[in-house]
Amino acid sequence: MTRAVVLTGGVGGAKLVHGLIDVLPAQDVTAIVNTGDDFRHLGLHVSPDIDTLIYTLSGKANRTLGWGREGESWAFMQVLRELGGPDWFQLGDGDLALHVLRSLALAEGRTLSAVTADLADRFGIGCTILPMSDASVPTIIDSDEGRLEFQRYFVERQCRPSVRAIHFEGAVDAAPAPGVLEAIAEANMILIAPSNPFLSVDPILAIPAIRKALRERRAPVVAVSPLIGGQAVKGPTAKLMAELGLAVSNQSIARHYDGLIDGLLIDTGDQRDDPGVAVSACATLMKDREDKARVASQAISFATRLAQ
Ligand code: GDP
Repeated sequence: MTRAVVLTGGVGGAKLVHGLIDVLPAQDVTAIVNTGDDFRHLGLHVSPDIDTLIYTLSGKANRTLGWGREGESWAFMQVLRELGGPDWFQLGDGDLALHVLRSLALAEGRTLSAVTADLADRFGIGCTILPMSDASVPTIIDSDEGRLEFQRYFVERQCRPSVRAIHFEGAVDAAPAPGVLEAIAEANMILIAPSNPFLSVDPILAIPAIRKALRERRAPVVAVSPLIGGQAVKGPTAKLMAELGLAVSNQSIARHYDGLIDGLLIDTGDQRDDPGVAVSACATLMKDREDKARVASQAISFATRLAQ
């Protein structure tokens, strides 16, 4: 039996998780999700990466926008704007309902992991979705425009500021959410999704107990590169790497995960020039269900080979 754990952010990661639950029994897949992007907005707790996973895995993701729900209506935003409320962060009506329910449950003292499990059930998702922690570990961007909360950088400023450093506030004192360490210990393969290594995967790795569990792993760890042809498929990964003084290459990705991964899955078109770990290649661009299943299958068979 293959028990797979996947460390994931939002869009890039959700595609791999979607592929995994297509090729494995969903109950054998556990996603450990970045919550460094979480923030309070209009008094609500928003968990962008968890929601991207929930919408993608339940087939409700908005493919045109690349975020939020399909078939969304925008009455709330329209009235909010008319009343002079902040409109830099878009909340569709259906999305809003989810944020209200999550915020209510948290205000009643429930944990983020419990609320996430309930929501995943409601959406009929068969795999386990675990936030990295129940504690708040906000990602803070130190930029040429000063200190920015993550969503101010990512959404409001559309990643335009130049990044000098990235901080995960409170990570050193944060405990992994219930089930995270158990899932890592019981997995027979651990995958790192092709999520942004610096903004989506690093917050998870910044939690000391998670990093320790990965270093002491029995199972092989395979990362899927977010780069294809020296470019990120989407988002600021390549821009960020350049700003942090890194070559935009698979070698840099492998070096970034040094000591934590046993293999790197790269795109067929990319050079294998010795990233210092075992390498496997396939077409890693995931546009449709078939692509997602192909990348997931390749990652599984690569990890299985590494375990032997
Ligand atoms: P976010 O949290 O929504 O920003 O999303 P992630 O961090 O999970 O994903 C963003 C990363 O996914 C970017 O670095 C992209 O290059 C990568 N990505 C997105 N789609 C694909 C894909 O189809 N294949 C690969 N290899 N990487 C992808």
